[in-house]
Amino acid sequence: MDKLQYSIKKRTTKIELPAELGFGRLFTDHFFEMDYSPEKGWHNPIIRHIENLSIHPGSMFIHYGQAIFEGLKAFKSADGRVTIFRPKAHFQRLNNSAKRICIPQVDEDFLLHALTELVSIESDWIPTNPGESLYIRPVIYGMDSSLGVKPSASYKLFILLSPVGAYYPEGFKPIKILVQDDYVRAVRKGLGECKTPANYAASLLAATEAKAKGFTQVLWLDGVEQKYLEEVGTMNIFVEFKNEIATPKLNGSILPGVTRRSVIQLLKDKGLNVTERAISIDEVVSAYKDGTLVSLFGTGTAAVISPVGWLTYKNLEMVINNGEPSKIAQELFDQLNSLHTLKVEDKYEWVVQVNKEEVEI
Ligand SMILES: *Cc1c(COP(=O)(O)O)cnc(C)c1O
Repeated sequence: MDKLQYSIKKRTTKIELPAELGFGRLFTDHFFEMDYSPEKGWHNPIIRHIENLSIHPGSMFIHYGQAIFEGLKAFKSADGRVTIFRPKAHFQRLNNSAKRICIPQVDEDFLLHALTELVSIESDWIPTNPGESLYIRPVIYGMDSSLGVKPSASYKLFILLSPVGAYYPEGFKPIKILVQDDYVRAVRKGLGECKTPANYAASLLAATEAKAKGFTQVLWLDGVEQKYLEEVGTMNIFVEFKNEIATPKLNGSILPGVTRRSVIQLLKDKGLNVTERAISIDEVVSAYKDGTLVSLFGTGTAAVISPVGWLTYKNLEMVINNGEPSKIAQELFDQLNSLHTLKVEDKYEWVVQVNKEEVEI
C-alpha cells in the first residue's frame, strides 16, 4: 500500500455549526479517497479538500449498482477526547459486503489508520450536544466505463464525514411504524445482508407511502411469506416479551447490525434472556393481545435506539407501552451514549480513541 498522502487546506474562518444539524446535510472540509486497479491494487490513498468527483457517464455503478457503503460515528467526550465506535466491526462488514458484490477486499488496518487521521484532522467538526456526532460514510463503487454486465475492474473508495444531530426529528421518542406487507426489502440469499444501495432503492416507495400516511418508517416482513419480522427501515428490531427479549436471527436477508450485536452483548451482561430467533408478526399480535408484549425498539448507528410507540398491522393499531420508551430501551440508549463518549469505562474495547498528536501532515 502507498503511504497516505495529505492535501489539506487550512480554514481561514471558524466552523459554525447550525443549531439544527439534521442528518447528512452538512459535510466537513476534507475527505479520504483511494483507487483500485487490478495492476496496482488499492493505491493513491489521500486525504484532501472535498470537491466534486468526476464520473464518466458509462461508470458501471451508475448502470448496475455495484456499490457498497458503511455508516459509523465519531464522538467527542466532555474532556475533549475523540472516539470512533467499533470501526473494526464496520470495516469487517464492509469487506463482507464487498465479497457478495465482487468488490475487492480492503486492508482493514490501513483503512482504520486513514479514518483516524481524517477524523483527527476534522475533529473541530464533531458536535457535542447530546445525540450529536460526526457520521462517517465509507463508500466503494465500480468505476469502469463499460455497459457490459460484469464486475468492474477499477474501483474508488472514499470516506465522507458529516456532523449530524439526532436521527429522528422526534429525538428519543417512540416512533410510528407500519408493518409492510405490500412490498419486500430483501430475500434470503439475495443482498439483504449487504450494506448496498440496491436495498435502499427497494425500500424507498414503501417508506414514502408509509410517511404519507403519517408513519415514521416501515417494519419489513420476510420476502417469501411476509410472516416473519426482518427489520425496521434502517434498523434492526428487538421485541421485548415478558420473559424474553428476541431479535430476528441473521438468516441472510437481514443486515447484521453492529448496534444489534452491541445490544445483544449489553442485554446478556444484564443477565437478561436475549434470543436470536424467527419472530412472526402473528406472535407479536397475540402477545400484544394477551398483554405479554412489553415493547419493540429499533437499533442502528444513526438512531442508536429507537423505541416503537405505535405499530400498525393491517387494520390493527397497537399502542406499545403506552407510546413510551420501555425501561430497557431507555437504559440501552443511555448506556450506548455513555460508551460513545467514554462517560463509563469501555470494558468491551469497542471504542477507538483518536489522538491529535498522531497526525503527521
Ligand atoms: C446499517 C443498517 C442497519 C444498522 O446497522 P448498524 O451497524 O447497527 O448501524 C440495519 N439495517 C439496515 C438495512 C442497514 O443498512
